[in-house]
Amino acid sequence: MSDTVHLSLDDLRDLIKRCLTRNGCDDANADAIVNNMAWADANAATSHGIFRLPGYVASLKSGKVDGKAAPDVSVIAPAVARVDGKGGFAPLALERGIGKLVELAKAQGIAALSLNNIHHFAALWPEVEKVVEHDLCALAVTAASPMVAPAGGTKPFFGTNPIAFGWPRKDQPPVVFDMATARMARGEIMIAARDGHTVPDDAGIDENGNPTTDPNEILKGAQLPFGGYKGSAISMMVELLAGGLIGDLFSYESGAIDNKDGGPPRGGELILAMDPARFGNPDTWLDHSEDFFAELAKQSGARLPGSRRHKARLSTPETGVDIPKTLYDKVLELSD
Ligand code: NDP
Repeated sequence: MSDTVHLSLDDLRDLIKRCLTRNGCDDANADAIVNNMAWADANAATSHGIFRLPGYVASLKSGKVDGKAAPDVSVIAPAVARVDGKGGFAPLALERGIGKLVELAKAQGIAALSLNNIHHFAALWPEVEKVVEHDLCALAVTAASPMVAPAGGTKPFFGTNPIAFGWPRKDQPPVVFDMATARMARGEIMIAARDGHTVPDDAGIDENGNPTTDPNEILKGAQLPFGGYKGSAISMMVELLAGGLIGDLFSYESGAIDNKDGGPPRGGELILAMDPARFGNPDTWLDHSEDFFAELAKQSGARLPGSRRHKARLSTPETGVDIPKTLYDKVLELSD
């Protein structure tokens, strides 16, 4: 018996949509999540594809997230837009807000979008790429539940706090990096625990603050940021931008009110958009950065971040995707 199920992208989209609408999402929210989630699988970013669907459903069932939320967009300063997500999932809030961010950045040269009262459970590269499509560069950050101890500390405090950055390219997909600021993704630690593997000794600490390679002990204790105090400082910056700056929750505050249903915590996201044509030389910035990428590519072994995903997305519309049968069966059960 096969342990994966093969689906076309259309079938994958239908499966996700049926499950979400059966569990309380309206069409607008379901479609936005489908676009985000199926696009993640199409990009071989499986950790944020349909794998996340049971978590979304858990929060619909528990009532933590409103599947019918109608996000509200406003402009609160000449170069600052805000979306009140009204306690819904992030994808629809993003869909509604990105256009305004692009419009303001084109008008002002630089603009920011804050998303408040949302539940973010996805990768950040999709929103960054949506901004970069308009020849803008973009930076996105969001905080989450407390899982990571600050450098020198021993208790969960920061979220895994991802940061994503994108830069437009000439006739090519953009350069995009999107990474958690924890040494290891939470999901990777959970998979190591499930499969009985050890993890690197700088991935986390046990309940007593001692370094350990046992993922089960880390799950009881705390993860660590990447790069010691340097990653810890970047994670702190993410908290301050996605929480303090935009008037939303820090990870420890979000953790304190979370109902632990396994779905996405409540919080905020900040996205910055900058127009290189307005900062530097409008005629040469694109060629200038292409020279930079060409110089980097001269080093064998080096590659541009995002290229793995961009390669995958070329083939999946034809080939479809494989998802674990256990996950497929679970989604069918949740869709009944
Ligand atoms: P990875 O460590 O897998 O990848 C981080 C980045 O590094 C990617 O852009 C990747 O590009 C790039 N990269 C990987 N290897 C190389 C290489 N050899 N050379 C150049 N670039 C490389 O990501 P994480 O595990 O840290 O994060 C996974 C996802 O989790 C992110 O999308 C993040 O947004 C999401 N996340 C979301 C959270 C939330 O609250 N919503 C919380 C935490 C994480 P490529 O894709 O091309 O491999």
